[in-house]
Formats: sequence, C-alpha cells, structure tokens
Amino acid sequence: MNKHKMITEKGVPSNSRVLMLFGQLEKLNRESMLVDPEIARQITAKILHLIQTQEKTRKEIVSKGSSGMEVILATLENTQDLQSILNILYILNELLTVGGGRRIGVFVSKGGTGILLQLVISASKESPPSEEVMLQLHSVLAKVGPKDRKFGVKARLNGALNVTVNLLKQNLQNYKLLLPCLLVLQVYSSNTVNAVSLGKNGVVELMFKIIGPYSKKNTSLLKVSLDTLGALLKSKTNAQRAVVHVPILLHIYQDWHRNDTRHRHILIRKGILGCLKNITNIKLGRKAFIDADGMRILYNTSTECLPVRTLDPLINTSSLIMRKCFPKNRLPLPTIKSVFHHQLLRVPAGGPVAQLYNQPLGRGPIYQFYTKPPWVDDVVDESDNNEDAEAENDMENEVEEKDHHAGNDDIETDINNLRPKETHSRPFEELKIYERFFMELSEDFQVFNFDNPKKGVTATPAAPKSHRPIIVPTAQALPPKNPTAAPLQGECPHLAPVPALDLDTINITKDQDGCGDHTHSQTHPGAGLEQELVQGLERVALDGAGPQGGGGGGNKHNRQPPILAGGVAARLGGEGEEMLAEDWAEEEESSEEGVLHVPDTALLLPLHDPDLYVEMVKSTSSVPQFSEVAYPDYFGHVAPTSREHILERVYGVQRTKIFQDIERLIHPNDILDKVVYDLDIQSCPVVDGGESLKFNSQFESGNLRKAVQIRKFEYDLVLNSDINSNHYHQWFYFEVSGMRVGAPYRFNIINCEKSNSQFNYGMQVLMYSVQEAISGRPRWVRTGTDICYYKNHFSRSSIAAGGQKGKSYYTMTFSMTFNHKDDVCYFAYHYPYTYSTLKMHLQKLEALRTPQTYLREDVLCETLGGNSCPLLTITAMPESTSNDQICQFRNRPLVFLSSRVHPGETNASWVMKGTLEFLMGSSPLAHSLREAYIFKIVPMLNPDGVVNGNHRCSLSGEDLNRQWQNPSPELHPTIYHTKSLLQYLAAIQRAPLVFCDYHGHSRKKNVFMYGCSLKETVWETNISATSCELHEDLGYRTLPKILSQMAPAFSMASCSFVVERSKEATARVVVWREIGVQRSYTMESTLCGCDQGKYKGLQIGTRELEEMGAQFCVALLRLKRLTSPLKLRNHAHLLDVESDLTETRCKGSSTPSTYLLEDEEASFMEEVDYSAESGDEPDNDPNTADPHDNHLSDSESNNHRDSLT
Ligand SMILES: [Zn+2]
Repeated sequence: MNKHKMITEKGVPSNSRVLMLFGQLEKLNRESMLVDPEIARQITAKILHLIQTQEKTRKEIVSKGSSGMEVILATLENTQDLQSILNILYILNELLTVGGGRRIGVFVSKGGTGILLQLVISASKESPPSEEVMLQLHSVLAKVGPKDRKFGVKARLNGALNVTVNLLKQNLQNYKLLLPCLLVLQVYSSNTVNAVSLGKNGVVELMFKIIGPYSKKNTSLLKVSLDTLGALLKSKTNAQRAVVHVPILLHIYQDWHRNDTRHRHILIRKGILGCLKNITNIKLGRKAFIDADGMRILYNTSTECLPVRTLDPLINTSSLIMRKCFPKNRLPLPTIKSVFHHQLLRVPAGGPVAQLYNQPLGRGPIYQFYTKPPWVDDVVDESDNNEDAEAENDMENEVEEKDHHAGNDDIETDINNLRPKETHSRPFEELKIYERFFMELSEDFQVFNFDNPKKGVTATPAAPKSHRPIIVPTAQALPPKNPTAAPLQGECPHLAPVPALDLDTINITKDQDGCGDHTHSQTHPGAGLEQELVQGLERVALDGAGPQGGGGGGNKHNRQPPILAGGVAARLGGEGEEMLAEDWAEEEESSEEGVLHVPDTALLLPLHDPDLYVEMVKSTSSVPQFSEVAYPDYFGHVAPTSREHILERVYGVQRTKIFQDIERLIHPNDILDKVVYDLDIQSCPVVDGGESLKFNSQFESGNLRKAVQIRKFEYDLVLNSDINSNHYHQWFYFEVSGMRVGAPYRFNIINCEKSNSQFNYGMQVLMYSVQEAISGRPRWVRTGTDICYYKNHFSRSSIAAGGQKGKSYYTMTFSMTFNHKDDVCYFAYHYPYTYSTLKMHLQKLEALRTPQTYLREDVLCETLGGNSCPLLTITAMPESTSNDQICQFRNRPLVFLSSRVHPGETNASWVMKGTLEFLMGSSPLAHSLREAYIFKIVPMLNPDGVVNGNHRCSLSGEDLNRQWQNPSPELHPTIYHTKSLLQYLAAIQRAPLVFCDYHGHSRKKNVFMYGCSLKETVWETNISATSCELHEDLGYRTLPKILSQMAPAFSMASCSFVVERSKEATARVVVWREIGVQRSYTMESTLCGCDQGKYKGLQIGTRELEEMGAQFCVALLRLKRLTSPLKLRNHAHLLDVESDLTETRCKGSSTPSTYLLEDEEASFMEEVDYSAESGDEPDNDPNTADPHDNHLSDSESNNHRDSLT
C-alpha cells in the first residue's frame, strides 16, 4: 500500500466530501502514522456515516480510477486502534453488500483477503478476542470468500481455519456470531485439503451438534450448517465419520418433509439430501443408508413429492441417492460370453477369442497369459471394489463421459502417417489371381453374344448346381463349406473342447406348439441333419412353403396352413388370387374362421419373393443353426406412407422408469422374476397359457438371449453378445406373441453398453405385426412410448468393460400396447436386412438386367461361417464391338462400394439396396451412369455377423473395420480379398475414382460422410502454420458437396475430413493411404432421423435410406462431369465449388466441417435442440412419389447445378 496517488481523478468530483476524507486518511497513512488514533477514528466514522447514508458515496469509493479501496486497506493494515478497525469493517460490510461481484473483485485484487485473514489471526491473540471484531471480520470474509478462488488456500496458510473453528466451538449458543462463522467455514470446506483438516479437528461432529433435531427456529443457520456439512462430506474420510449419523439425517429429512407443508424450506430439505448424497459415495455410507431403511424413506417421500413440480430438485437428488444405493445385481446369466461359440481354425494369441476362451491345452504355457481360468465368473459384481465416487449429475439426463476430452488426442499428428504409404506391395504374380474378378477389363467382345450375355452369372449358393462358388486360392486353405455340420468341431483335436456349448445339442426342430419336448439332434451332423433342417423350416416357420408345397406357381400357389412361431394358424394367399393391398382387409372378413391370407407383396415389392427368401435361408449357414424364418423377412416390408416424427420426450419419463425399478426393492413380493425365454437352457422354458408373453429370436439376425417376466406386464430382456465375444450389445431383433390387447407392456433391454443413445432423443424402436401384415400392411413401423435409456443397477464385469471396474449396464426401456389378439410381433433396433434378404435381392436384381446392362456376380470368398461373400460388377455393355467402343468400355473409371461391415448397421444395407436398384434401373440416368463407370460392389462385408445377430463383429470376435491395415486371409477373408481387389487395381494403374463404405451412425442425426484430407488434419492440429503450402487437391470435397445439395437427408455440416489415429485401420483411411484413392469415404446414415432439410423432425425410414443410395449414384454422375477433362469447358461454372473451397481454406478461415471426436462409435453426448422441432414441414410429401424418379428429375435440372456455385 505504498501507492501515494491522489484519489481525485477523472470523473470524480474533487469537491466530494468523502474524497476529502479519504485524502486526509491517506495523509495519515503516509505520515506513518496514526499518532493520534482519535483522528483516524473520527475520519473513518465520518466516512462510515456518509456511506451509510449515500449510495453515491459508495460508488465514488469503488469507481474506476479511485484509490479509495487501497486507502481503506492500508489503514486497516496499519492501525492498531480497535474502533478504527471496527469502523473500517463496517465500511467494508456496507460497501461489499451491494454492487455484486465487481466491488468484491476490486477488494480481492487489492489484496483485501490476505489483510482480513491476517487480522483474524491478530484479533484471536487478544484475550479475550473482541466478539464484535470477529463478527464483523467473518461477515466480510463470508462475502469475499466465495469470490476469491484462492480463499481456501490463503486461509489455511494464514492459520485462520482454527481460529474460526475455535470461535464456533466456544459460541454454539451465540447465533449472531455463529452464522457468519459458519458461512466462512463453508467456504473453507470447499477446498478438499481444508475439508480433510477440518474433519480431523472434529468439525463434522460439530456440525451435527449445530444441526440438531427438527426445529423451525434459526432456519438460515440450519441451512448454512447443512451446506457446510455437505461440503465437508465430499471428503471420503469425513463421509466415514458421518456414517453413524445417516439414520439421524433420514429422520430429520422425514420431519421436514412432514412439517414443511407449504414447501418454504426446500433448500433445507435439499441440504439434508446433499449430505446423504455425499455420505453414500462410500460403501459404508450406502450400507448405512440401506440399514436405516433409506430406500423406503426416500422412495415414499419422493412419491409424495411427485405432484409438486417445484419439488423436482428433491425428487431428483433422492432418485440419485437411491440409484447409487440400489444393490448391484448380476446379470441373470451364467456367463456374459455369447451363448454360441464358433471354433476358429486358428486362434491368434492375444486376440479377443484367445482372451475370452480357455484354450491353453496343447498350446504351450505362453498361451496361458491370454486366457482366464474357466472358473472365473465374468458376471461378477465388482462394484464394491470401486470406492471412486461415480460422476454425478442432478440432471435428468445424466452425462458422465470421461472420454469426452480424450478425443482431441486422436487426431493424427505424424505427418508421415498422413502421406501415401509405400506399402511393401505384394508381388504382382500374387495379385494376378484377382484378374478373374475384372473380366470386363479383358473380355473378348468380338465373340460376345450380345443378345444372350452369359455374364449374368449367378454364383449365389441358391443355384449351386450351375456355378460353383469361386474361391480365391490362397496359401491357406479356406474352411470347407459344410453348413449343417457343427463347424469344424472335432476336426482340430489339439484344441480344447468348448466348455459352454455343444453345438450338436442345439435344437433344430420344434413341435407344433413351438415349445416343449425337443429331440436333440446329436447324432447326425451330416446329410441327415440337413434333411431335418429342411423339414424344420417347413414345419415350424413356413409350413407348406417348401418344395413340396410349391410346385412352381410363382408365389400364388396354394399352401398348407403354416404354424407361425407364435401359434397363429394362417393360410397363405389362395390360388390364382390377384389381390391388391386394399382388397386384403375386405377379403379377411369373408374368409372362413382361422384362415388368413398372407399378403402378396409382389406388386409393391418387386425385389421380394417369399419363396425365394426361404430358398436363400436354406443355403445360409448360421452358428446357432437357425431353423426358423422370421415373418417380416418372409413377407417383406412395404415402407409406410405416413410420416414418423421424431418423438418428443415426455418430461420425467426417466424418473418414472427408475422409480419403477426401485419399487422392485421396495415391494419385492410384487416381483415375479419368471424366466420365460432362455437360450442358455437347452429346453425351452415352459410358458403357461396366457399369463406370460412368448419370446423367440432363433432366426437369422435374431439375438435375444433371455427374457424374464418382472411384473404382469413388464419384462427384462438380455441380448446375446456377438459370437466369440462377451459384449457389443446394441442391435436387437426378436419376436413376441401371446400378448393381451390393450395391456400396457413395458420392455427393458438391460444389458446395453453405450453411455447414451438416440433413444433419449426421439428415436423409437421398430415393430412388425403379423396381423397387420396379413391385413395388407406388411411393414415395420416406429413404435413405443415412454422410451428412455439410462444407467441401471446391473454391474458390468471389468472383463467386458475394458478393464474398468464398477461400471454398470444401461437399460433401454419402451412401453407398448398391442392392438391385435393372437398377434405375432417383432421388435428390432433398426429395419432388419438379413444376409438371405441380400441374396434374394441380388437374384431379383438379375432379372432386371437388360442386354445393355453388364452385370456379373462373383463370389469373392467364403466367410469363416461358410457363407459366400458376393461381389458385383455393374456397368453398361459396349455399344458395339468397334474398337472405339471397346476402348471406352475398358477405360471407364471404377467406383468401388461396400457396406455392412458392421452387422448392427442395417441402414447401410438399405442404402446399398437403393444404390443397386438404381444402378440396375432403366432410367436414362442409370444408363448414363453405367456408361460412365464400372461399379465394383461388395454389398455385405460381414455376412456372418449379419446372419448370427451380431452387432459389431465377425466370427473372429473382431471389428472388421479395424483390420484393413493387415487383414488376415484366415481370420478376415472378406476384408483381405476386398483389399486385394483394390491392390490389384492399383497395381494395374486402375485405382478407383471413388471408394465408399456405407455405415450407420447410432449417435447422430442425418446422413454424412467422413473423408481423408492431409491438409484438414494438419489444420486441425496446427502442426505447421505453413500448411497451406502442402499440395492437396480439394476434389475429395466435391462428392459430399454435391450430395448436400441434392440429397435432403445429407448434411455437409456433419462431414469431417480429419484422419484420426483410432481410424488408421479402417477401410476409409487405408484405401486413401495405401491404395491412393483421394475420394475415399465412409458414408454414415443415421439410425434415428434428420434435424435439417426436407426430412427435419422425421425419423428415417427405408424409403429415405434407399433414396439416399440412389442419390449417391446421381451424385456420382455429376462428379463424372466435374472430373472428365473433355467436359471441363462446358461445365466450367461447376468448378467454382472447388475454387471456392480453395479460397476459403487457404485464407485460413475456420474449417467448415466440424471436427468430430469419433465416428460410428462416437462417445460424445449429442446435443439435441428440441426447440427445433419440425415447425416447417417438407414441401413435398416424401412418400408420394417413387423416390428415384422424384429426385432424378431434380438432379438433372439446371437450378440445382447452378446452386452448386
Ligand atoms: Zn459402422
């Protein structure tokens, strides 16, 4: 305080009385000093008087440029005179009471805190200390403390903590002094070191003394005490000290709950809950809470609070405490490993399968490092080992993303990893075998029969007689195809037997009830079994639809009534009947009882054929050896014509659901806990008539593992893990029957793993009703109410949680009332699209081939599970055999597309269906497109995963989209051979113009792309300021840009072109780096819906997905015009897109793309703006016109092209 500066400065009247007084005070300070305390006393008293009477005066002291505060502090520091000190403390109390944080900020910045704390110490040394000084000091400190971030540390270093504590102890009855001291203590306690130290000093006990029993006297004191205690209890040692007081706290809470009828003391009640919340962060606290009947007390009080909205904070905190204390449960499973195991020919050490299964026998000791003893219980509850308080949030939607910040480390910063990779490329001789997949490049059209092009070869398993699957010979032999035998079991005697599962005991037959006594087909893994499989199919799922029933009358022949899996008797459509959708409903009434008609969807679904579908299923190999066919896949899906809006979340839905879960503990006698479906038990559980729903999912892509009836209308459902894995639960597909009409069913999928889901943001589940289907509405519809997704009380083993202990599973819950008696309904995560569906579609597509279309279907390879992976080649036939034409044909650029590497992302298949249908279409655009490019398409990169109901992996238990850097021909054949195709193309200088892998995104809305850009990655990381000098063609942005202008679901804003480290082994990055494809993309389609464009506010459907696939094709045609050198001049204006980009980017403007932490497995919390609900409806009804025609006309219009610029 040595600044001697006149306080009269600009803006302050020099004749002000208070400033004059300050001048005098400053003079006294300067003359070091207060020789006569009386003068200082007088001056400070006068200032105080002025301040108390004139707001103007206060403003003058703290106004900008005034040194008033400094003078006050200097005086306080220097004077020994009690009265002067008091006067100044009074002045400070007056000054700092109003004016918000700014005045306190000035005070703190001038060192005021330290001076006050010093004064606390010196005042404590007086005997006895002046009560008035202490009172005033603490009053000022209570105001200053919360605004000074270093307050806690300063107080501790000064030694002020003990002074305050002693003061409290000696003045427990002196409420006047108690309040400011408690306020200061509260600020001290917010510092964790202080809290621990105060606890040692007995402050926790002291607080309980002050709090005492319920009383409406001194409520402000009580409130502060509770808040102080709450702050202290954040320390675990303090929480331990408070455990014995849990019953008292609960008792006081109940008293307040009963007596505070007008809710005037919500803050006190919240304060008590705050203390309980912190005590229950430790295990002992949770135990004390349970022992003291805390669950029941908080449950009952909360239930009584529910009608009063202002009490929501109490309910929310209570709910949080109850969830924390709810005893952790094990999942009701013997093991979390998948029910089904597929024995791999070679189990790579350290791989997921080796880690999961105990296979050390005959492998040498080193393998034991990777294995777990078989007795390790992987469903174990480890939650008690975890004393770390879980992240908490009072919000209804809890968010506890620890890895939220980790993403930034994920951007690739090593420039060498961003440059084209010089692969020790394989010798051309090795790649030359792939030549056979590119016959169009060498075809001899001179002898080609144009009228009957034999190239439409079908090598699908459905027609195995005509063409054997082409198996690419590799060094390692591929497993022999033997779909019905237990895969290779017993053929590898050096491998340990699988403990959990004997594949031979899987039932493949089912009697008429669909349940009951099963004959185990243990003895015949060969032809006999195959025979039985066929019979099973006919009898159980599709009785009469097999070869005997259908002689070849298309799909309109007479059939025997099949027994539906759910027990509905039905008859398929009558002979020769030509029924349109509208007729079905009428027809139903006139038909005899119990006989129902099956929709003939041939007119609506030209690519669907139920008979063909069954044929396809028969040649599909599944690990569980599915013998049934799900009705939706059999009948097909006709997209509904009504719009399906993104659901608005109902207030408090999560809370209600959680309270229902807590009731399981409160009213245990109400809980049935009855297992009604269980894959782990070979015999189907007995389901009594009418009391319980029947579940089933033993069909392609089905994955329900267990269903437990909790209450009359509530079921817990457990999903199976991906085969050869112990997690990845997200996708689901199962069947329900035996429902009661109008009953409010609640379904809970209890072993979800992601920490958040689009189910919290308006996404609904999909349901398919067989009764609706046979009434002429065969369709998946978005359905379910009260949908939410939240952390539950089932503990997750660290074995399945990446080593993290104390994790929980999540519940996805939805409610449902059924409209039809005797219905069979199916529920799915997203529109199912099975491998058999793909095979059926490919066969039907072939029928669309015209003499002008070049279509070839090859089998790229066999999968581990014995399914073939189709590869399609689509282009236009050369117009003639003239050299020019043949030359044009062979020099067409290639476009390489793939999809469905992740089985749970069924939307990718629907987009691919749109692409394929468009490419095979008869429109002039499709023809131009075929003339422009040669398309190479692998429509399903992971057939095994799709067949077996996996969400993420292949049978190797691995994510195939992380294997592109070094795919193994044995473990990842589809990836290995797809990459080889690309390597072959690169070797013959024909690398594709565009590579795109279709995916689905579970966290975000809209459709968007991820690409690869060296520059954008570098910019994102700020590696180098001179990055603009890096040479990079901006062509990679053109295709997404075109798409954003023509495809309503597509959003450019969601695209990203940054290369992440965690994605270095994905198709997109590897094809970009190693094959050198500049336009290498992942196209992500939402599972939920759109929040922009024409479909804003709507959930996405198959129509929109297929449309997206078609629009992708049209965009390629525009890209062709932009990239073709001959057409450059005619379309020069289009190039502005790229020049625009060049300009903006090199100016260093912020990137137009949002950098996303991760793509399909993104872990960030999505921000959803509910205010942006669809106020503006799309202009065109998206459902009226054929999606293809709809946008085809658009795409060729000049308006659209102009808008590109
Ligand atoms: Zn994906």
